[in-house]
Amino acid sequence: MHTRFLLALATLLLVSSCAQLHTDTLASDSLSGRNNNTAGSTATQNYLIALMSNSGAVGLDSGATGAAAFKQGFTLGTNILGLIPGTDLAHEYVMIGAHYDHLGSCASAAPGDFICNGATDNATGVAAVLDVALHLSVPDNRPRRSVILAFWDREEDGLLGSRYYTANPLVPLAATVAYINFDIQGANLLPSLRDFSIAVGAESGGQQMRDLVEQATATEPLAVVQFSEIFGQGRSDHAILIDAGVPSVFFTDSTGPCYHTTGDDISVVDFDKLYQQIRIAAALTDRLANDDVVPAFDGAPALATFADAQSLSMLIQEALPDIGRFTPGQQATISAHAATMAAIVDAGEGAFDNGDVNTMLLVALEVVSLLSTGECDGFLEG
Ligand SMILES: [Zn+2]
Repeated sequence: MHTRFLLALATLLLVSSCAQLHTDTLASDSLSGRNNNTAGSTATQNYLIALMSNSGAVGLDSGATGAAAFKQGFTLGTNILGLIPGTDLAHEYVMIGAHYDHLGSCASAAPGDFICNGATDNATGVAAVLDVALHLSVPDNRPRRSVILAFWDREEDGLLGSRYYTANPLVPLAATVAYINFDIQGANLLPSLRDFSIAVGAESGGQQMRDLVEQATATEPLAVVQFSEIFGQGRSDHAILIDAGVPSVFFTDSTGPCYHTTGDDISVVDFDKLYQQIRIAAALTDRLANDDVVPAFDGAPALATFADAQSLSMLIQEALPDIGRFTPGQQATISAHAATMAAIVDAGEGAFDNGDVNTMLLVALEVVSLLSTGECDGFLEG
């Protein structure tokens, strides 16, 4: 009976999403925020290695064996790196990654709550990578190119894990054809923006990469709005891979009032959104790992484009039903920004110039800053 139950459970785990289980585990108080160089970090590393091994991954470090092959140590940190071997294009690599570290201390969102669980930053991103690995472990989904599963440490200390990796890569960066980064997933900025998510920097792989992102999102109700790399503000590990010449895209729900507070715990995770993001990630990984022609690195990404202006204007308009959540002063700022962005879009692409670029970057900065005010709330209903 017991054995049969375990077999049934194993089968269920093999074919269904485990994102909620992973997020629950990684964001639990017992892991104390997964801060680097702590017992919680070590327990997280062991969890990741066990899960990757179950998905048929091996350690990326071919010079080591067993659990050690998954670990890349550096100053006060440890990257955890797995490899799902490809078939006929095994010496080309698609990398998917998320930072697994969070914080030892952060702003307290409630009296007596001192643990920074980092549920959406970035237990959900880690869960997404683990779920894509599970997807690739199904024999029919075996990738042609090898897929690297990258769990970065010390992202919160200045992207130190990904910096260390690109300075000390375990497979040639020139053979690493693309990187997909997840940082802050399953999160809502406002009730009006529940059906929106963001993809940053795909133009680093040219129009082909942008098209692949768009095609991967097409089957989900979630609207994934693309922005140029500049809007990611170099704030996550994708920026380091782009600096290293790897076409990259950064999936994020941006930073809201729960960001780096103890309120970023399991109660604010939008799992319906996360499941859509995982299906999108799996679809994009499949294309990058199996298509005959992959995106070529397209140099330093553009500063900002007219398409960015259209996207930013649209998102501000979509958020206006929630303007009553802000103070009167903030409302005046938001209304002014909405009008400014609408004017830039109405003037048309021919009139778009560097002045508009500077204006919209300032608008974007202020909007992100405004969105981080107010009370931490997952906006899961209502
Ligand atoms: Zn993060």
